[in-house]
Amino acid sequence: MQRFVVGRVSQEKHFLQWRRSLSQLVQNKASLQENDLLLPKMPPFDYSPPPYNGPSAADILQKRKQYLSPSLFCFYNQPVNIVDGKMQYLFDEKGRRYLDAFGGIATVNCGHCHPDVVEVIVKQINRLQHSTVLYLNHAIADFAEALASKMPGDLKVVFFTNSGTEANELAMMMARLYTGCNDIISLRNAYHGNAAGTMGATAQRVWKFNVVQTGVHHAINPDPYRGMFGSDGEKYARDVQDLIDFGTSGHVAGFISEAIQGVGGIVELAPGYLPAVYSSIKKAGGLFIADEVQCGFARTGSHFWGFESQGVVPDIVTMAKGIGNGIPLGAVVTTPEIAEVLTRRNYFNTFGGNPVCTSAGHAVLKVIEKEKLQENANVVGSYLKERLLSLKDKYEIIGDVRGRGLMLGVEFVTDRKLKTPANVEILHVMDQMKGLYSAFSMLLVPALICF
Ligand code: PMP
Repeated sequence: MQRFVVGRVSQEKHFLQWRRSLSQLVQNKASLQENDLLLPKMPPFDYSPPPYNGPSAADILQKRKQYLSPSLFCFYNQPVNIVDGKMQYLFDEKGRRYLDAFGGIATVNCGHCHPDVVEVIVKQINRLQHSTVLYLNHAIADFAEALASKMPGDLKVVFFTNSGTEANELAMMMARLYTGCNDIISLRNAYHGNAAGTMGATAQRVWKFNVVQTGVHHAINPDPYRGMFGSDGEKYARDVQDLIDFGTSGHVAGFISEAIQGVGGIVELAPGYLPAVYSSIKKAGGLFIADEVQCGFARTGSHFWGFESQGVVPDIVTMAKGIGNGIPLGAVVTTPEIAEVLTRRNYFNTFGGNPVCTSAGHAVLKVIEKEKLQENANVVGSYLKERLLSLKDKYEIIGDVRGRGLMLGVEFVTDRKLKTPANVEILHVMDQMKGLYSAFSMLLVPALICF
């Protein structure tokens, strides 16, 4: 499954701009080369979903409006009612098949309803669904052992959570406890979660509510496309040293970052950035927290973990999403020494590490290995990237193609020099990909309105 992010979309609706651009696009359509419109047919697929007799999309939408949070939003002019999933495909209420290029927000790494994963979940749920870690059960211990075997260095102690936010909250707290310092440095354009501490570490205004968020400094983003130093990772890293020198006591709890910013629009950190930052953070007594919620579990193809591409070994690694292929599961992995801090008080999580989620996580890890999904992400992702780059040569609207493996991004701009986000066009393209061509439907997502 691939993470395919297109452009940057602000949540403010510019209706007039939308209408103007839409009519321009319709006029320009005639000038598109014929071949570009001849999209490939969907390959045959040996699965038909059972007939759907449930409520219509309109009924569901009405109920959502009445009973669910008004903050919920849907993609597309006509929201899709997804009722079935099988491997790389999703099916709507009419049985129409879509290639899922989003994987449930970079989560479904092995494919929807992968038989091996489903079998393990069903077996476990029939036997024991919940007991808590106050009792023994082999599932959590077996999975922790398997996960630890995938980690470098002394990263051998696992703590299970239910989400990426929880994992990052715990990691940040552990860094603070271990170092006795409060200050954490994170990156502008980062996303680390939406609870008290992680919202502070998140640095995109659309995801930050106006509530108290303390103890986090945001460094200049080492963004090779939009950043002031291009691809010079070491130059960006100096800002972290400046923050330590001028914004803190000189000692920090740590630094948290993704290796490729997911919600931020698939932004790969400039090469050489993490090793340089790592050295500043270590000198200031801090820990390095790698947020692998999106780029972990082989998604980037070249490596199993995103941080490996920068050649560093973190002190704490957080993960979620791909770890469970859709099952609510997150984890924090750290060293035995750092893990000790949690013995100072009781730290407990009712559902964290439950047998259903951990046995599912273990099954996912086995599928990734058995089906060589890292290699698949590398081969398929490289091919896709190459083809996207060739589209960039042809179309001015494509400002940048970036990312690794199946964590790829295409940024649309209305002006290549100014890098003006093509907010309106991208929504139009998304809708086109979903439904205009009956032969090939693809679900994509724009950055900054995803999660
Ligand atoms: N970190 C990253 C990099 C993420 O992308 C996300 C979710 N988009 C989170 C943390 C938070 O994960 P969750 O939504 O499971 O709380």
